[in-house]
Amino acid sequence: MNLISIEDFSPFISALKFGAHKHRYQKRKDAEQTPYFNHPIEVAELLWRVGNVRDISVLTAALLHDVIEDTETTHEDIETNFGARVLSLVLEVSDDKSLPKETRKELQVKHASGLSPGARLIKIADKICNVRDVTHSPPPEWSFRRRMEYLDWAERVVKAMNGCNENLEEEFYRMLREGRQRINAG
Ligand code: NDP
Ligand code: ZN
Repeated sequence: MNLISIEDFSPFISALKFGAHKHRYQKRKDAEQTPYFNHPIEVAELLWRVGNVRDISVLTAALLHDVIEDTETTHEDIETNFGARVLSLVLEVSDDKSLPKETRKELQVKHASGLSPGARLIKIADKICNVRDVTHSPPPEWSFRRRMEYLDWAERVVKAMNGCNENLEEEFYRMLREGRQRINAG
């Protein structure tokens, strides 16, 4: 039998419970209205499986990467439950919601190259999942143009983090090519 370490598994399983609770009433924007928390789970799974990421703080922060932006969670909440490094990673990948959307999108491009290595991993995995969603399960009201613009913007963010993780970058550009082909094909 292979025993897992308590120090590693405890924060991860707690973050699963914490995130599932915080996002419990939220849905993704796809036609099926998928439960929101499926998305952070997919981001963590991608980091583990494709990126071979084994840093438990990064995997834990991936599960929590949208709680500051999209729920009532406070900084203290995260620091008390998961520690300063997880909080710092989550903050690095959170937009300032008081700014207009256009500004936030430009700031993501501008700040990407200055992110810590752990935050870059979460950011690229998030973009892979969102490009996949825009390709296969987009918000129903999004036009062809809006979907293409989203892909262009995601590419600008990821380009600014060049060299963060070979496997994840390969996966991102593969998804991007597939997305452009499929969206173009209608
Ligand atoms: P939004 O920011 O409104 O939505 C995209 C975000 O929603 C993703 O980054 C993702 O964030 C989350 N999300 C949840 N469910 C899905 C899903 N199924 N598929 C994809 N993403 C999902 O959209 P935009 O990125 O387009 O940003 C809005 C900008 O678009 C504004 O600047 C606005 O001015 C502009 N706009 C453009 C239009 C056009 O036709 N070109 C029309 C209207 C607005 P997360 O990972 O955080 O969950
Ligand atoms: Zn996200």
